[in-house]
Amino acid sequence: MLEERLGLVPLSTGELFRQEISRRSALGRRVSRYVTQGLLVPDALVVTVMTSRLTQARLRRGMVLDGFPRTIGQAQGLDRFLERRRRPLDAAVYLACSSAVLIRRLGGRQVCRACGAIYHVRNMPPKRRGLCDRCGGALVVRQDDRAATIRKRLEVDRGQARPLLDYYARKRRLHQLNGNGSSEQVLTRAMGLFQRQGWVKA
Ligand code: AMP
Repeated sequence: MLEERLGLVPLSTGELFRQEISRRSALGRRVSRYVTQGLLVPDALVVTVMTSRLTQARLRRGMVLDGFPRTIGQAQGLDRFLERRRRPLDAAVYLACSSAVLIRRLGGRQVCRACGAIYHVRNMPPKRRGLCDRCGGALVVRQDDRAATIRKRLEVDRGQARPLLDYYARKRRLHQLNGNGSSEQVLTRAMGLFQRQGWVKA
């Protein structure tokens, strides 16, 4: 949605890893066991992969990094990289959400096997059951969206979040938004933040 509204280039580590796993590439084979168990991929590997994807052209247009950085080590790696390119981070946006909401969202999520489009059985159902609106591909449940793995992922993320929030708060880059509610509500809050900061016109 931010890509459509603001032309920012999205880059999601989770999405990238899932693509590499389904392509059975060397990187996919290295990260697969972490992703399927809901564990974090080691920092050095994540930073290397992400920084190789952050090309100068993409940085000029502006990017939204989704799911990255997840640890202090990754945040430091990203900062070092961006400082060298004189494009320091504008903001770290934390979407604060209750565990109950996260469990409902992840538990009902379906993704298109072909194009990666995301749906939700109740919040954002496809027009035809089990089929992607965009490309007609089959919708599947992500392996790490199964109940036991969801619990593990939330536990891991909650443990990492606090130190990361402190890191960006100290750098005066942290913005917290209420992440509960519909995707439209969350987008409205994000656009409000961007306008208040003067990053986009009202
Ligand atoms: P996500 O789609 O963001 O929920 O990520 C799915 C899975 O990919 C996570 O549970 C991790 O196994 C892995 N992953 C994604 N982003 C990162 C990251 N920044 N650091 C380490 N592992 C990650």
